[in-house]
Amino acid sequence: MKLNERGLLVVISGPSGVGKGTVRKALFEMEGHDLVYSISMTTREPREGEVEGKDYYFVSKEEFKERIKNDQFLEYAEFVGNYYGTPKDKVDEQLDKGKEVVLEIEVNGALQVREKAKDGVFIFIAPPNKAALFRRLLRRGTEEPETIDRRMKKAEREFPLAHKYDYIVVNDEVHNAADRILAIIRAEHAKTERSIYKYNEMLEVK
Ligand code: 5GP
Repeated sequence: MKLNERGLLVVISGPSGVGKGTVRKALFEMEGHDLVYSISMTTREPREGEVEGKDYYFVSKEEFKERIKNDQFLEYAEFVGNYYGTPKDKVDEQLDKGKEVVLEIEVNGALQVREKAKDGVFIFIAPPNKAALFRRLLRRGTEEPETIDRRMKKAEREFPLAHKYDYIVVNDEVHNAADRILAIIRAEHAKTERSIYKYNEMLEVK
């Protein structure tokens, strides 16, 4: 039984190539939770196999800029030449319904959300070491060498920002990392500050 009515906003973040997307997908395949994924909007071209409205909403730069002007994003960031953003209305709607909403976003965007949603849960996914991150960026093979180099340099600048998060989860093995995230979400639910109001009401504590 949950004691909090509004859903939990869970932000999974960390440098590009740490496997955030893979961990997030593994998390959603696990049983015993009721998480909703917030589908981001991007101006990047779809990669092979990516599906509109499932992996991303793919839009033009003009459309993205128009939406920025109309204040439609909870956060957005420019990342290696493209825009990525979280549509605000959908997140609010789901949280109001008491759903747990998961964002999987890069570091700059996560820190913007931190400013706006103080009660969110912020999880930094870290690689087990730098070589593993580099290997993963190379293995992905969907980017030009120059882009890989830019992503690696960006990751180096982001490592020190982990201290701004509530939790650090090392992605040593995808299922372990997803397991730890689920454990964090469960523990966050039981936090007194999130549940005391309903608890007092339930037991008529004055
Ligand atoms: P990719 O091009 O590899 O799909 O994503 C590049 C980076 O953008 C990844 O680190 C991914 O987590 C991040 N990203 C995806 N969606 C969003 C979003 O809505 N906002 C922000 N700030 N970053 C995002």
